[in-house]
Amino acid sequence: MVFRSYMDQALDEARAAAARGEVPVGAVLVAPSGEVVARAGNRTRELSDPTAHAEVLAIRAACAAAGSERLPGHDLYVTLEPCPMCAAALSATRIARIYYGASDPKSGGVAQGPRIFSHPQCHHVPEVYDGIGAADAEALLKEFFAQRR
Ligand SMILES: [Zn+2]
Repeated sequence: MVFRSYMDQALDEARAAAARGEVPVGAVLVAPSGEVVARAGNRTRELSDPTAHAEVLAIRAACAAAGSERLPGHDLYVTLEPCPMCAAALSATRIARIYYGASDPKSGGVAQGPRIFSHPQCHHVPEVYDGIGAADAEALLKEFFAQRR
């Protein structure tokens, strides 16, 4: 089986988020069949909702479409290391794999900070692959925050 990355689509969602004035983070959820079941970018400002991270919005859409609280066998592509909230939510979905781009020393919760998936209370640990499309994701974030200064 040939590995196909969906990170380009996640980066498109991140760019669309930036255009809306949101922190540029994008996520794509892929079913075991390879079908994209949800795409989302951050909408915390638009929705006045601090939990409206790209990952959470993608999980909500995919679970609603599946009629299930779980997404076994699914893959998530996200442009930035998930925060602790998103990592916990992803564990609850029983997702199979997470591919992320840039690491997030400030708010990341996977490779740093609380390291949710390494915690003994974590009931489901997905496979995690980092650094996928990281340069593009970092450039988007840098550009976004440079414009806000
Ligand atoms: Zn998050």
